Amino acid sequence: MEKQTYTIGLAGNPNCGKTTMFNALTGGHQRVGNWPGVTVEKKIGKVTAGDIEIDVVDLPGTYSLTSYADDERAARNFLIDDKPAVVIDVLNADSLERNLYLAIQMMELGVPLVLALNMMDEVRKNGKEINVGLLAQLMDSPTVETVARSGIGKRELINEAIRVAQAKNGKAEPLRISYGPDLDPVLDEMELNISKARLLSDKGPARWVGIKYLEGDASIRRQGRERNESVSRVLEAMVENVSRHLKATLGATPDAIIADYRYGFLAGIAKQVVSYTRTNASRIALSDRMDRVLTQQVLGPLIMAATIYLIYVLTFTVGKIPMDWMQTGFTWLGKTVEAAMPEGMLRSLLVSGIIAGVGGVLGFVPLIMIMFFLLSALEDSGYVARMAYMVDRIFRIFGLHGVSVLPLIVSGGIAGGCAVPGVMATRTLRNPKEKLATVLAAPLMACGAKVPVFLMLAAAFFPGEEAKVMSIVTLCGWIAALFVAKLLRSTLIKGESTPFVMELPPYRMPTLRGLCIHTWERSWQYVRKAGTVILCISILVWAAMTFPALSEDQAKPFEDRIAAIQVQAGNARANLEETEATPAEKAEKLGDFNANAGKAQAEAKTTGDAVEVTDPTAEALKTVEAEKSEASLRNSLAGRAGAVLESVMSPAGFNWRVNIALLGGFAAKEVIVATLATAYSLGEIDTKAAAPLSETLAQDKSFPKAAAVALIAFVLLYAPCMVTVVTMAKEVGWRWATFAVGFNTVLAYMVAVVIFQAARFMG
Ligand code: GDP
Ligand code: MG
Repeated sequence: MEKQTYTIGLAGNPNCGKTTMFNALTGGHQRVGNWPGVTVEKKIGKVTAGDIEIDVVDLPGTYSLTSYADDERAARNFLIDDKPAVVIDVLNADSLERNLYLAIQMMELGVPLVLALNMMDEVRKNGKEINVGLLAQLMDSPTVETVARSGIGKRELINEAIRVAQAKNGKAEPLRISYGPDLDPVLDEMELNISKARLLSDKGPARWVGIKYLEGDASIRRQGRERNESVSRVLEAMVENVSRHLKATLGATPDAIIADYRYGFLAGIAKQVVSYTRTNASRIALSDRMDRVLTQQVLGPLIMAATIYLIYVLTFTVGKIPMDWMQTGFTWLGKTVEAAMPEGMLRSLLVSGIIAGVGGVLGFVPLIMIMFFLLSALEDSGYVARMAYMVDRIFRIFGLHGVSVLPLIVSGGIAGGCAVPGVMATRTLRNPKEKLATVLAAPLMACGAKVPVFLMLAAAFFPGEEAKVMSIVTLCGWIAALFVAKLLRSTLIKGESTPFVMELPPYRMPTLRGLCIHTWERSWQYVRKAGTVILCISILVWAAMTFPALSEDQAKPFEDRIAAIQVQAGNARANLEETEATPAEKAEKLGDFNANAGKAQAEAKTTGDAVEVTDPTAEALKTVEAEKSEASLRNSLAGRAGAVLESVMSPAGFNWRVNIALLGGFAAKEVIVATLATAYSLGEIDTKAAAPLSETLAQDKSFPKAAAVALIAFVLLYAPCMVTVVTMAKEVGWRWATFAVGFNTVLAYMVAVVIFQAARFMG
């Protein structure tokens, strides 16, 4: 027998439990894609019921279907163009009125609906009752009670959906509601004109097209004009007329009137179906009481600062443990591969290019997961909405929105974030200009990859004051981000800011399961995006720092020295063997023969923490190898570029070694410390402690303290790393991503030069 296949959409407001329901319905059978043209993720899951196959498409969580926000447009285009057989609208039954607003819009479009009255457990707990039968009747749609979190009602929901799909197959009688004495007559006339001309009849019902014209929907107007210019003009004139009339009589625009009547319609429904069995007062009252403290004018911001600080501390103290494991693991992997393979290009590519690069990215995963877990807890509990509410007034001054606070925090507002998930978090911003400004400001924060550079420089030039330096740098990140946002919002991306319409829902206790799902989704996005791009870039950077290799002539002096050391070691060993000596004495004598290594050994002995006796031959060999690495780095493409850049960068106090490191940092900021270490012929160093590099830098006469401060500023501000650039391009297009690279670098350069020159001037 032929299999029947249906496409079902899953729609709903943000936080209505849609993801939970999607997972409950489809289990593990999911695949992820992208909505055409926008960066919103599209998830599709499979459900089989007998010989019926269903593709469940997860629509972006939205309050409405306007055409200016990415997620709303994606949802709307899917409904219009893909014509799903039926849409399951997940409603947070606890705030029914607000949640039904989306349902009305879909019903006006003629989309067959099944309503999932979700969170019924909450409704009951809050002492409310909903007359489901009456609601189904008034909304003219099958309605099922569900508790997505425990899977209650999901069978019935899917059965209803199948029934409606078979009965209606994508076409329902569109809902008609009254928009009042001013709009109704105009709308009727518009509808007549539209249906006579069959204008956009493939998109939606005539009345819906009319409503879109009245709402001033840019995308429908544009398409209308393309299809039939003259009819479209007539319609626009009618809208113009009634707008003028409304403005004069009610002081309102048509879209505001439309929204009013929709809410009126819903308020009427809610009044009839919702009843209070018991006072719901307790939870709301508790929430209000909490808000009286948590959003209080003085206490609120203090508590917010403390919360952010707590997240910071938890992320780093807890995160350090698995991060160290990861680092140890990758170091071990690198060493093992190094030992197992013969020396050569392939080994170098594997160890220095691939393992080091990917290790750098994956090393951050534990930190990111912990941070996302804590941020999700804040979000799910409803506190983030309060944070946005509190900072909105300040952010508005800089042309941003309260909601921008989260992307900025994620990007490094608490040092150690990452701009990649930060940029992705801007999707919750509805106003495209505020979103763009936030995206451009985010990479200026003190992300986790920049932190090792700051710590290393602080250890070298401000020993003992690392924490203070980090706090100041983090603060400077905020200042820079807000300053740039303000600058751009008053020049290149001028425009109105959106009013703050975020509701403050009652606080809710987050569930572990929900937190895990959100954490996993976000971390996986990071791994996937960062992982693939970083791999390619690590290979490119490795190549730029490896080729052209030293010629035989250039390498010869090093080879000769290595040979000499080996001969010397051979002789020393032969001498030792002749005399009868205890192993300890042997070691001591071996130690004497190389002054340097001997001293180190003596130090190790006095501190008593060096268990193994260092082999002076190996030490000497290591020194030569490191010097050879430096020479070959200097000779490489990157090294030559670094030298060429010296004339440009010297006003900021940067020598060629710093320049190479900064070039590497274009790819990933993680590379900076390691590259600097190689350039100073230190060979492999522990990037976290970076002690030898700190000492070397502090002693380098050509790198004064002023240059260190300039370098800190430069690293904080200059071009976002490649992964961030790619992520930015996905969010706001390549033009703006490229702009950020140039703009940030120029800004960083100017600041660095000013710092270095001013410091020199003041002596
Ligand atoms: P989405 O934004 O619509 O995808 O919402 P989520 O699926 O992420 O759910 C938001 C929060 O509501 C999570 O903490 C869920 O655990 C919780 N949640 C989802 N469904 C229910 C439900 O039926 N009852 C209760 N009490 N909580 C739910
Ligand atoms: Mg979700």
